[in-house]
This record gives sequence, structure tokens and C-alpha cells, in this order.
Amino acid sequence: MYGACREHVEQVIEQFLFEYARAPELLMLSQAGREETLPAACLFCSQPPVYLVK
Ligand SMILES: [Zn+2]
Repeated sequence: MYGACREHVEQVIEQFLFEYARAPELLMLSQAGREETLPAACLFCSQPPVYLVK
């Protein structure tokens, strides 16, 4: 699972495809379940993530 800010969401999706060889599920962070361990920052910068790519 990766976190992505608005700016880097496309790059994070590309990284996910490269790493996992499947299309990711894209969620707004606000829709994520509380039981999940959420990334503290975007994969490509230190901003808080807006999206979860998993
Ligand atoms: Zn970012």
C-alpha cells in the first residue's frame, strides 16, 4: 500500500504497477478503514497523502 498526494498520484500508480504487476485500487484516504495502517506521507514527497493506492 502506498500513500499519494494529489500531485504524485499518477507516479505512485505507475510505481505500484511496476512493483505489483496489477492495477491498484485507488481510495481517498478519508474512505480508508480505521483498522488499516495508513502511510504517513506520499511515496514521492513528505506531504500527507490524499489517496491510498493498494
Ligand atoms: Zn507527493
